Amino acid sequence: MKMLTHMDKPGEECGIFGVYGHPEASNITYLGLYALQHRGQESCGIVSSDMNHLHAHKSMGLVADAFSEDVLKDLRGPSAIGHVRYSTTGDTSVNNAQPFVVEYSMGEIAIAHNGNLVNAGILRDELEAYGSIFQSGMDTETIIHLMATSREGSLINRLTYALGRVRGAYSLLLLTEKGMIAARDPNGFRPLALGRLKDAWIVASETCAFDLIEAEYIRDIEPGELLFIDNNGLESRKPFEEAPYTPCIFEFIYFARPDSKIFDGANVYTIRKNLGRELARECHVDADVVIAVPDSGVPAAVGYAEQSGIQLQVGLIRNHYVGRTFIEPKETIRHFGVKIKLNAISDVIKGKKVVVVDDSLVRGTTSRKIIKMIRNAGASEVHMRISSPPTICSCFYGIDTPTKKELIASSHTVDEISRFITSDSLGYLSVDGLYRAVESAGVDFCDACFTGVYPLELPENVIQPQLRLFSGL
Ligand code: AMP
Repeated sequence: MKMLTHMDKPGEECGIFGVYGHPEASNITYLGLYALQHRGQESCGIVSSDMNHLHAHKSMGLVADAFSEDVLKDLRGPSAIGHVRYSTTGDTSVNNAQPFVVEYSMGEIAIAHNGNLVNAGILRDELEAYGSIFQSGMDTETIIHLMATSREGSLINRLTYALGRVRGAYSLLLLTEKGMIAARDPNGFRPLALGRLKDAWIVASETCAFDLIEAEYIRDIEPGELLFIDNNGLESRKPFEEAPYTPCIFEFIYFARPDSKIFDGANVYTIRKNLGRELARECHVDADVVIAVPDSGVPAAVGYAEQSGIQLQVGLIRNHYVGRTFIEPKETIRHFGVKIKLNAISDVIKGKKVVVVDDSLVRGTTSRKIIKMIRNAGASEVHMRISSPPTICSCFYGIDTPTKKELIASSHTVDEISRFITSDSLGYLSVDGLYRAVESAGVDFCDACFTGVYPLELPENVIQPQLRLFSGL
């Protein structure tokens, strides 16, 4: 078991989903997680309550593979919460799959977390010094231990105490025998929405999960809000000092699904298209065709083409069935590289000046491979356009980015990066352009990955994330 210390950064990208008051709570949660699969593919889990006991099933892998009809049948009761977790190397153990379930003096409790706590290492050292025994390497478990060791009498006060001590990003769902609790950190880094399905309450990271189960979006869980849901209805509390609302701008750029509405109802597709339009305004180039890097570059490419008047074509095809289990034959045919995931259509590309639009450039390795592939398909010129600013800093609030030194833009100029990826030209969206594109969302954002300005102070001993999963292609 890998233990969390303050030398680790156990942050993951995750999705959470919960339902309270539905006869088929675990089936609904299964569907909800299915819609949130893009937020995490390493492991998943559902915990249900039959009003007396919690029932749990957790597994490595994808939602569709992890739950059978029989398993879902055993997850009895009218309420359930679920979690999907993104992969990281080193930490790939079902021990770290969520929701966590524990029994403590007040009964059984399960917790599912999206985000990253920046002071989890310090708190863990402190809790262990007083005798807490951790079961996992996850920062989320700190919240449970803080609740268990709290001297407060009620669940509500114990949770308030625990969340009052943690710092960082959390969108949370907790399930007890009798109720469900949704909570969002005071900065509101990660999305979390409340919905209604007949008489049941639904909570989900993104509204695309509501669409699948035909639930109605009611509102966001507010920053700093603790929402208690039980048979008496809803009770909302805001026990913490208000903080600036700084949702994560990268959710719009890359992470959330384009059909979702996040951060008070802003549609991700519309914003991504705006990003492409701004990019075309700022970084025009004379070209014959615009193509997207699928899938995340598609909406921005649509916007770029609309704004520039250059025709949009499908020039790269993605294989949607590439899973984690893919084994590249070692002996006979080596180095398929990017072709495992993508292939270029030479009829679209041959002899053309091509604009290639992607949502972000992190280490530059993906772009480099894609450009080579496009040149091999016969392009006369390849112009790379990125619908976000240069990524110069790591995320400590729950997006999986490599260490700062691996971020190519943290130490290289745009010209140098262009040479590295072998493009004829490279253009990034400016920070101002980014803000023009997201204007409709009407809020300030956490843009630390592009500016280095972290809205929430980082403890000194939060160090750079270790090199983990994030592999691009
Ligand atoms: P790179 O090869 O390191 O420059 O990776 C860039 C590619 O990774 C782009 O195509 C992005 O869509 C994708 N990407 C950006 N951020 C992430 C992330 N946090 N997790 C997984 N993929 C990402």
